[in-house]
Amino acid sequence: MRMHALNHQVELENKTEKTHPKKRYLFASDFDRTLSFNDSGYVLAKLNLVQQGGELAYLLLHDPEFRKARKEHLHEAGKRVRLKPNIDVLYRFLSDELEDCRFDFYVLSAGPVEVIRSALEGIIPADHIYGTEFAYNRQGEIERILQVIAGYGKVAVIDELLEKLKTGQHRIVYVGDGSSDIHVMLHVNRRDGFTIAVSENQYLAPIAKRSVLSDSALAILIPILEDVVGWERRLIRELFEAKGLLIQRWDKVQTDKVTIVPSAAPVEKPVGAALTESDSALRP
Ligand SMILES: [Mg+2]
Repeated sequence: MRMHALNHQVELENKTEKTHPKKRYLFASDFDRTLSFNDSGYVLAKLNLVQQGGELAYLLLHDPEFRKARKEHLHEAGKRVRLKPNIDVLYRFLSDELEDCRFDFYVLSAGPVEVIRSALEGIIPADHIYGTEFAYNRQGEIERILQVIAGYGKVAVIDELLEKLKTGQHRIVYVGDGSSDIHVMLHVNRRDGFTIAVSENQYLAPIAKRSVLSDSALAILIPILEDVVGWERRLIRELFEAKGLLIQRWDKVQTDKVTIVPSAAPVEKPVGAALTESDSALRP
């Protein structure tokens, strides 16, 4: 009888485990200046493949020099990208170290997909990286653009991934640094997802639900653990320490950005005087 009861309990536990799997989230991150310090366009410019200073999308379409770039050049450029440290730790932790949640980690970038796959080789699987794709001619040169992952292009990939992962539309975390992330962040916010800015970009920071500035990619984990998973700061510090990392400074800053210029209108009265006047206007 007791054995039967025990078996019953084990069965019940198994059932509970099956009916309560880990919550599945889509974690989507921009690449240039979010997971790296520099821009893939800048790296290509350093290799004299494109002119420096142009928008990558513009260069792709209009710079004839760029078309000389071959796949192997893009691969080489990827090896020269300066990655932020701890992307590997972030990837492993989000993928399978949390008890109740699992974040499927994807990279979405306007940069050439070959550059980003090469930069993240051995850290993030190639099929988790979406970027601008080219068709090459027989000489191995870029012939045309197949797809650009920027602006609404990122929104389309997010929708495709949600469909693939079969998860709730609100279970998205998106991280980015610049103007090309605005559309996708607005989209994710509208669906009650979670958005993180990793820069002080004047257009992006007010849209993102949280901003975090750090030279380490692992800092992205802080707002996720606090706001999505619901951890306390003490627990987050302990986690970092368990990984051999120390949060040396953790300042929560709210910045008022103020520009003050001389006004065009001449000052007629002191402020106090104006108040007194309006006060007397109210009197009968
Ligand atoms: Mg970026």
